[in-house]
Amino acid sequence: MLSFWEKRSFTRYDRVVIGSGIVGLSTAISLKERHPKASVLVLERGLIPTGASTKNAGFACFGSLTELLEDTRLMGEEDALHLVRSRWEGLRKLRDRLGDDAIDYQNHGGYELLFEKELACLDQIDTINRWLTPLFPSPVFQTRNDRVRAFGFNPQVVRSMVFNPHEGQIDTGKMMRSLLQLAREMGIEIRTGAEVLSLQEHSEVDITVRSNGHDWSISAGQVAVCTNAFTLALFPGLPLDPGRGIVLVTKPIKDLKFKGTFHIEQGYYYFRNFNDRVIFGGGRNLFREQETTTRIEINEQVVNVLKQKLDDIILPGSFYEIDHAWAGIMAFGKDKQPILKKHSDKIFLAARLGGMGVAIGSNLGEQIAGMMG
Ligand SMILES: Cc1cc2nc3c(=O)[nH]c(=O)nc-3n(C[C@H](O)[C@H](O)[C@H](O)COP(=O)(O)OP(=O)(O)OC[C@H]3O[C@@H](n4cnc5c(N)ncnc54)[C@H](O)[C@@H]3O)c2cc1C
Repeated sequence: MLSFWEKRSFTRYDRVVIGSGIVGLSTAISLKERHPKASVLVLERGLIPTGASTKNAGFACFGSLTELLEDTRLMGEEDALHLVRSRWEGLRKLRDRLGDDAIDYQNHGGYELLFEKELACLDQIDTINRWLTPLFPSPVFQTRNDRVRAFGFNPQVVRSMVFNPHEGQIDTGKMMRSLLQLAREMGIEIRTGAEVLSLQEHSEVDITVRSNGHDWSISAGQVAVCTNAFTLALFPGLPLDPGRGIVLVTKPIKDLKFKGTFHIEQGYYYFRNFNDRVIFGGGRNLFREQETTTRIEINEQVVNVLKQKLDDIILPGSFYEIDHAWAGIMAFGKDKQPILKKHSDKIFLAARLGGMGVAIGSNLGEQIAGMMG
């Protein structure tokens, strides 16, 4: 039972954000920037953010050549360019807001490794570079085949490599700690271990929250639901599919030959250096049924595929050891456009960020805060 004081001071907020991933925290920060006097509360079911934002690979990217070719085919050139703009602006916002040092932003560029069957896409580099000129006046993509051997990749398999100088990498843990710290400094309250079970709309929104085995009721003038793949539990009809991503990190490797972010097979596999380690993830496409899940667990079959690719393509002939593996949950839809929706006058949704939420998350937070007025 709540005390008189608890009821007066802890159960009513002007705005409540559900989920403390990059979108939830960015939304809360943007709301507070717009309404410094408003009370803003973030409710997070985990002890720390527990979805994708603390578990990603830390690519600060906006799409590889083959991904962008596929996006223009699926979405049309205009919508696909809009999406690239949104990612690029999101990255700028993230970097400006937190500072490059705080998130350990490093710009070593990004590369796509092309196999024999993908070489035809090289004919379209000029077309894609022209299409990108509204955002990047100088050509973005260029081939760098000389680096295949220099980086130690298997030249029998990797037949070409395309470089993008605008790609960077961040320390995901530092980014999320910085966002949490900034939110707290701005006076945003963050409650962890607080799982939202349901929302009921009356003159305000009544939020039922389970914490420590007890159910609480909190009311809010407006609510932003930023729970990405987990949104289906609150809004079952939403058009999104969860997708699990599995990532490995090696122990430090002596004389690691490459630095940068790397994409393989339209981004289904991705790897980068983290200091002198390799972070490598992907393989979801091979086990779609098992990986369409919100269960944060390791699938050993995926781990084995990743190890095989390290042996055959990325680190052939090198000695390495796996230090750690983990899983995180993304949300996907029929195209890569995120869901940004006014569900009612008081409830707003932002979800389905796919595999580029680091890029687009800050922008989406700004947009949802704008919709809330
Ligand atoms: C393995 C992996 C690698 C990735 N690599 C990259 C990359 O390199 N670059 C990139 O740009 N993107 C990457 N992504 C994608 C990116 O991480 C996501 O798009 C982004 O983090 C999504 O942010 P979000 O805030 O929408 O969702 P999330 O981070 O999933 O946040 C949702 C939050 O809501 C909370 N929550 C859920 N339900 C409730 C509830 N009922 N009550 C209270 N809280 C709730 C969850 O615990 C979670 O903290 C990767 C993702 C994964 C999984």
